[in-house]
Order: sequence, then structure tokens, then C-alpha cells
Amino acid sequence: MMNDDLATIKMQFLYALRSKGVTDNRVLQAMEEIDRGPFIRGIFAERAYEDMPLPIACGQTISQPSIVGMMTHALDVNPRDKVLEVGTGSGYQAAILAKLARRVYTIDRHRRLVREARVIFDELGLHTITAITGDGSFGLPYQAPFDRIIITAAAEDPPAPLLNQLKVGGIMVLPVGQSDAVQRLIKVHKTETGLEYNELRDVRFVPLLEGLGKE
Ligand code: SAH
Repeated sequence: MMNDDLATIKMQFLYALRSKGVTDNRVLQAMEEIDRGPFIRGIFAERAYEDMPLPIACGQTISQPSIVGMMTHALDVNPRDKVLEVGTGSGYQAAILAKLARRVYTIDRHRRLVREARVIFDELGLHTITAITGDGSFGLPYQAPFDRIIITAAAEDPPAPLLNQLKVGGIMVLPVGQSDAVQRLIKVHKTETGLEYNELRDVRFVPLLEGLGKE
């Protein structure tokens, strides 16, 4: 592919994000800086700039870019924030968060995905991301509390350990619902007096599973 063509395709990618409602300038800038290409391998690589979820290793998926944009906006990340992501997958969402936050911790239950994501983070010089293999439903107690928590796999309910590891004043964004049905993306605010829930839209994510993956 010629460079000019790639530049045009990337411009169309950003235009598509805008037209699908990703209008926050900081989010758009982060998504312009982080090329989705390196996060997708094999036969699907050529579709990296389409607004589609795509298969990655371990039977998982990289989310649809407009959903990534929307979730990132909903998370309302500040430059001083310490963010936890559950569900590293390809590492794409974590890389975007790294452009907006001070520190990003990302956990996946698949060792292989974490290993591959780390390589890309290194190549891109994203040294504020720490990628960890583990069951993210339990969060990361030794780094808690977090200003922001994003879960990119669907749970039936927000996992209690993650709610506990959210700071007062913090925000958590996650899909909830049965894994084989349409789920709802929700935003949780932790206030002095408790938790406030807001429903954002319908989404479809892979399920949040227990324990570690096989590879
Ligand atoms: N955010 C990713 C997409 C995530 S797909 C990206 O930008 O590409 C959802 C991921 O959640 C999968 O990689 C899956 O392995 C992971 N996952 C599911 N249950 C998990 C759990 N309990 N702990 C950690 N990761 C989990």
C-alpha cells in the first residue's frame, strides 16, 4: 500500500469515528496517535481501519473503534489518573488510555495476549503501561485504589472487588449482561454516599471468565 493511500485510509478512519459520535477532541487525538494496525495480525490486518470488531489470538476480539472511543470518552480520564483495564486483549484500548492517563495497568487472563501486547507497547514506547496476566475480576489490590476502571469483557454484574478498588470520585465503565445476549454499557460513579449507575447503550462483548486461559 502506498503511503498516500494509508494516510487517506487513516483520515477516513477518524472521520468515521466522528460521524459515529466520538466527538471528544482528546479522545480523537489519542486515537489518531495510536495506530490500530500493529494490534491486528494475520488475515484481518488489512481491515484494521474499518469500524469493526476483529478476531485476535486466543479466540478473543479487538473491540470496534467507535466503541473504544465511546468508552474512553465515558471514562473521562485526566492526565494525573491511575487507570485499571480488565481485558488487555490486543492492547489497543490500553495504548489509547496511556495517551490520556498518568499510569495504566491492564490485566488479561491469557498469558499470550499479555506477552504480545507488551511487545507492541515497547515498540511504541508506551512505558507507562504495565500488562499483567491474571484474573482481572479480582482487580489489582496492591495498586488500588484507581481513579478509573474500564472492563472490556461482559460480567453479569460489576465485580465487587473492582468497585472496592475504585476511588471515591472515581468512574468505572463496563458492559453488563449475559454473555450470549446484548449487554448494556454502564458508567458507575463512586461518590461519598454510594454508587450511581448510568446506562449508556447496548453493546456486545466477549464474557468475563474466571481463572486463567490455556495459553
Ligand atoms: N480491550 C481489548 C479487547 C478485549 S476482549 C482490546 O483493546 O483489544 C476481552 C478480553 O478480556 C479478552 O482478551 C479476554 O481474555 C479478557 N478477559 C476475559 N475475562 C477476563 C478476566 N476475568 N480477567 C482478565 N481478562 C479477562
